[in-house]
Amino acid sequence: MIKINKVVLLSRCVLVLFLIFSLYDNLFIVSSLTPSDSNGSVYLQENALLFNETAAYNHIESQLDFGFRVPGTSDHFNCSKWINDQISIHVDETIQHNFTIQKENQSSYSCQNILGKLNTEKDNIVILASHWDSRNVAEKDYFNQSLPIPGANDGASGVGVLIELARVLKLYQEYLDCEVWFLFLDAEDQGYSGGMYGLEGWNWAEGAMNFTENIDDFYNSQQEEIECFILLDMVGGFDLEFIQESRTNNDLHKAIFGLGQNLGYSVAFPENPKKMSITDDHVAFDEIGIPVIDLTIDFIAGNWTFHHTHSDNLSNIDTKNLKITGQTIEAFIKTYYAEGDNLQWNEGFFSNTFIVMSVIVFVLVAVFTVNFLRTKRRKS
Ligand SMILES: [Zn+2]
Repeated sequence: MIKINKVVLLSRCVLVLFLIFSLYDNLFIVSSLTPSDSNGSVYLQENALLFNETAAYNHIESQLDFGFRVPGTSDHFNCSKWINDQISIHVDETIQHNFTIQKENQSSYSCQNILGKLNTEKDNIVILASHWDSRNVAEKDYFNQSLPIPGANDGASGVGVLIELARVLKLYQEYLDCEVWFLFLDAEDQGYSGGMYGLEGWNWAEGAMNFTENIDDFYNSQQEEIECFILLDMVGGFDLEFIQESRTNNDLHKAIFGLGQNLGYSVAFPENPKKMSITDDHVAFDEIGIPVIDLTIDFIAGNWTFHHTHSDNLSNIDTKNLKITGQTIEAFIKTYYAEGDNLQWNEGFFSNTFIVMSVIVFVLVAVFTVNFLRTKRRKS
């Protein structure tokens, strides 16, 4: 009799445990999607996502109109001025981070990271980033490998989405519970691949490394805290399907992929994404302890096959996927930084998951102890 009770109790507990775990993430994300803003701002109402994919597409076109954004060229210089002008329309402050890169026996190249800061009075910072340079060679093409690529997806798509996001978040500004950095990183795409450098001797993501080496110049580290770094790289091609990069913070991944799925974008944000390790701008930020996510695609074996080829042009951009990326990031900021529902992305000891698990374990131990004492008392 006692044995049967124990089996029933145990199976019920397992069932409850299973239900709690399976519902936890979904409940959390769905509940936080419901706006809690009682002032009734139209910008914060549910489904009022304002990201405009046509504007993002036009920003891509504008960058390509400058030509190839290869460091050392006038096209590169002119495009940097354009990005500065565009982002300055929407943010409180724009900073130019000028630096030079000179490799052995090579000439010196002027490069520039561009940082737009929105909501500078807040002390917690969310970084949205993309590289803006384009690759100087097309090593994966069959023809003209030594010529530069348009970089419509690889470079310009992330920049286009960020500039449009800046316009949108500016509309929310008074409700934002964080400072947002729009960071346009230079010198990302000139590294070594397929037997060729973009620029001789260069590493990948040089701009990001230069930025993190000097990051204390751009904020007050005593008073301000960088909460997370979200990288957009190749976010506008056909057949968009994001991967899970190995350095990605799990909570950030769950939050962003969960929101994408809730918006109906499960193809772009799959339940079980491909897991890959990629050297990109997020690496430098991860290495200084900032929680990161790299929103990028499988450019090695995925469906978008134009990586580092001359076909990385406007005809292989899909406006629908710019919308998917832009809306999901907008929903992320709206959910976690415009409704007083901030999360810590550092997977510390007292993460949400840890607290929920602790409560469950405590309840189970209490139930078993009470049951044990009761059966013991009945026996005696
Ligand atoms: Zn690239």
